[in-house]
Amino acid sequence: MTIAIIAHDGKKAEMVAFIMDHLSLLKEHNINLIATGTTGAHLERAGLQVEKMASGPMGGDAQIASRMVEKNVDMVVFFRDPLGKHPHEVDVSMLMRLCDVHNIPLATNPAAAQLFFKSLVYKH
Ligand code: PGA
Repeated sequence: MTIAIIAHDGKKAEMVAFIMDHLSLLKEHNINLIATGTTGAHLERAGLQVEKMASGPMGGDAQIASRMVEKNVDMVVFFRDPLGKHPHEVDVSMLMRLCDVHNIPLATNPAAAQLFFKSLVYKH
């Protein structure tokens, strides 16, 4: 199972904390992580193994979307910063649209991600 991890700048610390909190679950279920570049770098610094794409504004969201279309992503956790402006907003919209097109679960905040991760216990 592969989970894509993306966090806007204002949410990166929260994302690292969230993933660290769920480390044993991720290991137990053999979950691979892919991430946009800067988010991935933050996760690596925390000691995690993650496949990094380009940074979001340089096309990282588009790369993750492409993996989704190829059926190589099972879940997306994207902590968005609702208070920030982002140069690659069109890419973000595209990624979210493709989650719906391909019926891929998308959690955009920690409360939703928490529920998704709880479901992993039953799914695998
Ligand atoms: P980043 O991209 O992890 O490279 O900052 C995230 C995003 O799409 O905003």
